[in-house]
Amino acid sequence: MAETSKNFIYEIIDEELAAGKHPSIVTRFPPEPNGYLHIGHAKSICLNHGIARDYQGRFHLRFDDTNPTKEDTEYVDSIKEDVAWLGADWGKNLFFASDYFEQLYQWALHLIDAGKAFVCELSAEEVREYRGTLKTPGRESPYRHRPVEENRRLFEAMRAGEFADGAKVLRAKIDMAHPNMNMRDPVLYRIQHAHHHRTGNAWCIYPMYDFAHGQSDAIEGITHSICTLEFEEHRPLYNWFIENLPVPHHPRQIEFARLNLTHTVMSKRKLLQLVKEGHVTGWDDPRMPTISGLRRRGYTPAAIREFCSRVGVAKRNNTIDLALLEFCLRQDLEALAPRRMAVLDPLKVTITNFPEGTVERFPGPNNPGDPAMGEREVPLTREIYIEREDFLEDPPKKFFRLAPGVEVRLRYACYITCTEVMKDAAGNITELRAAFDPESRGGGTPDNRRVKGTIHWVSATENVPLEVRLYENLFTVPDPDDVEEGRTFLDYINPASLTVVQAVGEPALRDAAPGERLQFERKGYFALDPDSRPERLVFNRSVDLRSSYKPE
Ligand code: ATP
Ligand code: MG
Repeated sequence: MAETSKNFIYEIIDEELAAGKHPSIVTRFPPEPNGYLHIGHAKSICLNHGIARDYQGRFHLRFDDTNPTKEDTEYVDSIKEDVAWLGADWGKNLFFASDYFEQLYQWALHLIDAGKAFVCELSAEEVREYRGTLKTPGRESPYRHRPVEENRRLFEAMRAGEFADGAKVLRAKIDMAHPNMNMRDPVLYRIQHAHHHRTGNAWCIYPMYDFAHGQSDAIEGITHSICTLEFEEHRPLYNWFIENLPVPHHPRQIEFARLNLTHTVMSKRKLLQLVKEGHVTGWDDPRMPTISGLRRRGYTPAAIREFCSRVGVAKRNNTIDLALLEFCLRQDLEALAPRRMAVLDPLKVTITNFPEGTVERFPGPNNPGDPAMGEREVPLTREIYIEREDFLEDPPKKFFRLAPGVEVRLRYACYITCTEVMKDAAGNITELRAAFDPESRGGGTPDNRRVKGTIHWVSATENVPLEVRLYENLFTVPDPDDVEEGRTFLDYINPASLTVVQAVGEPALRDAAPGERLQFERKGYFALDPDSRPERLVFNRSVDLRSSYKPE
């Protein structure tokens, strides 16, 4: 029995186990290697892997590689990396549908011999036309009643490469008047003289998804073939194959609602377009909903798993607020990310009574909530930077930051009071002068003076220059898939989705490891980007600190 989150799939499995239907549970994640995985796939991975784990069963990673023209080993590699990173361990159970090509071919012959499949010479267009509509029955192909021997000979000739692409197809012989269009003599094999990423030129006929998928499940002993709702209409066909072929196992297809996120496109075709047309820098652009993009952005596997678990598994399609994903990341990083200070929009402050040329070092906890995480040293010098927005010349009442004559606490260091505002000819503030209270060093003063504001800061002479990339939603509208007539999702790309700023950070940032996640105090969570060079560290803002969002 499963102990974790009960969804309707667990209920089905519990019932079947109680009835003694399976000795053990086997699930699979079946990506087609024609793109990078996205957060929707993560939901499917977490679900399938989670079920196998909870029932002490087996989890397979199987590439559904039946379409040679769109598939590539680059995608195979990235998918393996992403699934492993998410923590879904397939152990020895890595499979490829292309490993089953010979068996699938034999099963196609089996259907031919049983009079349940035929070679059809209608063009793709004619096949479509003959299929009829939801309201009208289809018409039988003129090739439907070919003798078994002729079908066999022709199908063997198809395999032998005797025909051109599209000249013939193999179709199942089911029912042209079936209310379910998928049952109207569906195509099983097509001719494609194309190089396959694993089988090379060994084949020039390739099985259709519907014919390959269920049979691959059956070969592997998958007990529950979990897929998204759009395959519900394919289930009768899935079962028809299983019932009409001598397969070793009878898997059960169960559908669940796919994940949709606000402000996000999830179709691989659209994601590919974003990459190919250069709207983003690549599949792993931190604005992409891909696993590799989220990883680069600073997402943790735990945050993504938590998100998938909170989203749950339903039978009806719905759209989840992107803010929930961000909430899960914030929650994970809160405990885990060491604290650092960085100033993203620097305004220089000279502390006029701080001795020139000296450095005073203060201890700063790596995480104030967790003493076990240790400390780093924060150097204070006569010239520092503060955040431009932390100063107002004419502050409103509740502005607890720096202003003329106002005293604030420099985080971990001391109290300063602004004494002078310097401006350029145009009236822009160029620099501030301030005085510090030497007695306040390390925090507090003998008279226990109340200082309301605490601001972060970085030494102007002891620091590391940073390039900081700030992100917003990639799309300006909640549903970029559903837009005004005559426009496409590309018309709704947010021009402000990426802002690059030249920032400064405290020296401890020099030790940041690739992929390390940090909290820049008051500014959010950041991850070191692979574009970083020793002389110019690059950080991505993973998510800000604001958490106006409250999950239900
Ligand atoms: P396509 O088939 O259009 O190329 P796909 O997103 O279905 O795209 P697959 O590689 O076939 O890509 O998907 C692998 C598995 O991930 C399938 O079982 C599919 O149902 C599941 N999946 C894909 N998108 C989502 C999603 N948004 N939410 C949940 N599961 C998904
Ligand atoms: Mg698919």
